[in-house]
Amino acid sequence: MRDGVLSFSASSQRTSQKMPQSLEVTVLGSGTSMGVPTLGCHCAVCESKDSHDKRTRPSVLLSYGGRNVVIDTTPDFRSQAMAARVDRLDAIIYTHSHADHIFGLDDIRPYNLKQKATVPIYAAEATLQVLQRSFAYIFDDTPTDSSLPGVALHTVNGPFKLFDLEIIPIPARHGPGNVLGFRFGSAAYLTDFSTIPESSKALLRGLDHFVLDALRYVPHPMHSNVEQSLALVEELKPKHAWFTHICHDLGHEQTNAKLPENVRLAYDGLRFEVQV
Ligand SMILES: [Zn+2]
Ligand SMILES: [Zn+2]
Ligand SMILES: [Zn+2]
Repeated sequence: MRDGVLSFSASSQRTSQKMPQSLEVTVLGSGTSMGVPTLGCHCAVCESKDSHDKRTRPSVLLSYGGRNVVIDTTPDFRSQAMAARVDRLDAIIYTHSHADHIFGLDDIRPYNLKQKATVPIYAAEATLQVLQRSFAYIFDDTPTDSSLPGVALHTVNGPFKLFDLEIIPIPARHGPGNVLGFRFGSAAYLTDFSTIPESSKALLRGLDHFVLDALRYVPHPMHSNVEQSLALVEELKPKHAWFTHICHDLGHEQTNAKLPENVRLAYDGLRFEVQV
């Protein structure tokens, strides 16, 4: 596989007796790494009064069967979980190890205490390694009187079951690095990608909802832009596409007015149901 990107088979078992019927996706954050408004910026989008133009760092919540699973724990995780009234947290899935996707991990401690349990983490091996370096205090076994996040690490090597739901990793390139998107039933979340191998495109067909990276209009070496993401939507034909990881170049209303009807900018707090 080109550039060493992982490849997973499309022919995994997609059925289970106990599989939940539906799942609710909540977009916890739809913004790029710096967030919108961006510190020190007074452009029209950063100064916008439209609440859709307030974008925290990128993450989604999957709620199904009484469980809550987050994809990434951003530096805004605490306020996002507050806003979405996340009363319990059952697992974390990581797309990759960039700061805007991991640095809210310490804020899971109230869930550890309330649930009296560790929270399982699912990520590619390279991401787990960065987590262990970035949060050395969690993993180094140094005696402490402080509370620490309680986690159990699980390496994602292919499709896996999480509370009876099959999660299918979607490997993609993120500039010189790797990222994982995830498919769950008829929806998929793929942030922080620059290119997608053909083997992964095969995993993204027949979607009802596709949440995907579209940073801005101007090309970026690490991210898909509006033009590239529209081309991907045209190719993969999801019923609904939601752009995320959005920077302050894209005003919510003005951008939506130019997009095809089935493509919209995601926004913090967006919720939709997915058949799984
Ligand atoms: Zn990012
Ligand atoms: Zn701005
Ligand atoms: Zn990234």
